[in-house]
Parts: sequence; C-alpha cells; structure tokens
Amino acid sequence: MNIRIRLTLLFGLLVGSILLLFSVSVYYMYSQFREQEFQKRLRELATTTVRLRNDVGEVAAADLPILAAEQVTIYDDKGHILYSRGQPSGRYALTPAFFRKVLQGETPSVRQGDRETVGVRYPNANGRVFISVASAYDRYGFSKLDRLRNILLFGGLLCLVIVAIAGYLFAADALRPVAELIDQANTISATNIHKRLQVGRQRDELADLARTFNELLNRLEKAFVSQKSFVSHASHELRTPLTVMMGQIEVTRLQPRSVSEYETAFDGLLDEVKNMIRLVNGLLELARANTGFPNLRKHAVRLDELLWQAQSQLTHKKSDYQINIDFDDLPNQEDDLVILGDESLLQTAFQNLMENGCKYSPDHAVMVRLSFLPQQIQVTISDQGYGIPASDLPYIFEPFYRSDSTMTINGHGIGLALTKHIIEIHLGSIDVYSSPGKGTTFRVCLPTKSADSESVALAATAVRETTPFTTM
Ligand code: ADP
Repeated sequence: MNIRIRLTLLFGLLVGSILLLFSVSVYYMYSQFREQEFQKRLRELATTTVRLRNDVGEVAAADLPILAAEQVTIYDDKGHILYSRGQPSGRYALTPAFFRKVLQGETPSVRQGDRETVGVRYPNANGRVFISVASAYDRYGFSKLDRLRNILLFGGLLCLVIVAIAGYLFAADALRPVAELIDQANTISATNIHKRLQVGRQRDELADLARTFNELLNRLEKAFVSQKSFVSHASHELRTPLTVMMGQIEVTRLQPRSVSEYETAFDGLLDEVKNMIRLVNGLLELARANTGFPNLRKHAVRLDELLWQAQSQLTHKKSDYQINIDFDDLPNQEDDLVILGDESLLQTAFQNLMENGCKYSPDHAVMVRLSFLPQQIQVTISDQGYGIPASDLPYIFEPFYRSDSTMTINGHGIGLALTKHIIEIHLGSIDVYSSPGKGTTFRVCLPTKSADSESVALAATAVRETTPFTTM
C-alpha cells in the first residue's frame, strides 16, 4: 500500500470516527430530550384529566391535548378504576411498585414498546387522593428522531466521501515534492554522477532529505572518480613494464644470440617481472586498504622487534641500504613497546618508509628513532636525501602521486598511500617534514596496547597541535 493511500485511509478513519462520535452523541441527546418532553406532556395530560373530572365532574376531550393512541385512567388510592379513556389500563400491566411510587408523590414513568406511561398523584380539596395514569405513543417525536437519524447517516456518509476525496488530493499534494525528488534521483547515473537534487528554498524535512542525498552523492562521486583514476593509473603502471618486456623480447629475437646474451636478456625480463609482481601486490594491498582491510586481525605486536625485522628484510633485499635503529630510552615496562595491530601490514608500512628513505638519498641511509610518549609510541624515519618540494608535500600520500624531482628513481607512487591507510587503521597518525636537498623525516604515532580510546584521540590532537610537520 503506498503512502498516499495510507494517508487517505488514516485521514478518513480519523474524520469518520469524529463524525460517528458526533452523530451518536447528537442522536442520543435528542432522544433523551424527546423522552423528557413527551413525559412532560403525558404528566400534563394526566393532571388536567384528573383535575377536570374532580372539579367539573366530566372530561371533555376538546379541553385536552390529543396524543396518538392515548389512554388516561384515574384510580382511587385503593387502586379501583374511577375513570378510563382510550384502551383499558390492564394492557399496560402496571406494577404495584408503580402505584406505590405514585402514592409516595413521585411521578414514575415506564416504557413498553413504543408506548410510554406516566403516573401522577392528585389530592383533591376534600383530602381524597387519586392516581392518574396517562400513556400514549409519541408519533411526532419518533418520526423526528427517525428523520434525524437518516440526516446524520447520509450527512455523515457524504462527509466521509468528501473527506476521502479531499484526503487523497491533499496527500497527493503533500507528496508531490517526494515524487519530484524521486524523478530527479532517477535521472542520476554513473554517466552524470555530478548532477544534484534541487534543494529548493524551504527548510523542511524534504529539503533536509535532498541535502543528505546530495552529500551522499558527493561522497559517492569522490569514490567513483578515485576508483576511475585508480584503474587508469594502475593500467598505465602495468603497461610500462609490459612494453619494456615486449621491447626486450623483440630486440633479442632480431638475430640469433649467444647463451650469455640470452641469459642477460632473461635476467632483464626477470627483473621486470619481479617489478610487476611488486606492483600488482601493491595494487592489491591498496584495493584492500580502500575497503578498510576486511578480515583485519589485530594481535599484540612488539614494535621494536617489528622494526628490526623490517630492517633485516630490507637489507637482505638491498645490501647497500643502511638502516640504523635508535631508541631514545627504553620504557620501564614491556607493555609500552606493544601495540595492537596486524603484523604483516605494519611491516609493509615501515618497510615502505625505510625503503623510501634509502631510495631517495644518495647515501641510501636512514635513521629510525623510537620514542615513548604516554600511551603511545612515536617512530621517526629520517634521511638526508633529496627531500620533497613543499609544493608536492600535500599530495605525496595520494595514490600514484610521484614528485617530479624523483621521477628518475624507480617507483609506482603506491607505498605512501598504502602506509597512510595502514597507520590510520591502527588508530595512528603519520606526518612528514622535508627540506629539499637536506632530507626528509616521516613521523608515525601509534597507540600502545594499554592506551584507552579517549587518550588516543587526545594524543593525536596534541601531536597535530605541537607539530611543525605536515599532518596527513
Ligand atoms: P614510490 O616511492 O614508489 O614512488 P611512494 O608512495 O612511496 O611511491 O612515494 C611517493 C612519492 O613521494 C615518491 O615518488 C617521492 O617523490 C616522494 N617521497 C616519498 N618518500 C620520500 C623520501 N624519503 N624522500 C624524498 N621523496 C620521497
């Protein structure tokens, strides 16, 4: 059931209930009024009849109000009928209690079918007491009551129909902006993701909805564009080594070669394949990072051990790299060296930073320094290499961004983007300070295992506020 029908039904139900309540109350009150009015007339008839009979000795019908099927009976105080007009009183089966009440001075009334009966007590001047009972059928009262019931019934039904139509139109009018938003949203697709919904000038819930939807589109567009550029950058990075390999194979095949020449060619191809494998692994990791590293498993990791391992793996790969690790001073308890994290991801992050330091400095040397702040560990990786121009600093954490100044050195621009994702998923922060020609320092802050979330947030803010570094 759509909202329009539901609103119409609700509206109809509400107004219908109010109408029903109103009609029932009017009908009930009018029927009470009729009854009281008619009993009053019956009492007048009973009293007038007994008075005429007592004072004048006879009852002339012309002196009395005429009621439908009327009947008047006068009894003495013993219950003997003295006078009767109309149908015999026995038909009405008046109870002794009825007469008792009359004798006590009350004016009781009874209703048998459509006929109503009242009794009055009449003491004459000589001290005799008479009981006069008048009964009749209220033809006009009941016909008016029937008429009123029909008016209320048809009037109510008519109102209900009008309310249903008005409710349907009203709901359609109220929901028109929603329908317009739906129409607008339906026109947005991947080809025109830059399009936005018109918010309008009102400050109502629908404007809020449109604004929220536009913000969602902004986020989606950003993700969509970065996804597109990711694919095009990745294809470009993959094409380069493939072109190099194809060129090498074609040149080698131009003429018959000696075994050593083939070996040299294969070595070159092997280097390119290794390079491609590194690139593809980096791309996979970056894709995983973009989805927030699903299946991430954090364990207690000793950061000093992790750095030693990173150092040994790197120097094993590149023997000319010099990675020096230094501690400010060791913490008192071992727990201050432990962080909660994914060991292999953290290895990737620190190896990237150490490798960059060595790669982008002529002496291929970096200094890694560990220092211990309350509830967090700070690692700085410094080199005295080429440095990064200030204009490039804001972009170096973006995927595939490479500084022009280091274009001649092998790389794909994936490492820092991945490193930043890894540090952030560990609730840490990374920032960089660089002076072209003098060197670069990356600073990583990670919360220790014992740190509570509040102090992690506070510490991150404090680092950002006191740092001369570029925080990413
Ligand atoms: P890659 O090193 O593969 O190019 P990265 O994402 O690791 O990719 O680095 C991005 C860019 O940042 C590098 O191309 C380089 O220009 C710059 N960069 C990173 N680290 C350093 C450093 N220690 N010294 C100088 N430039 C650096």
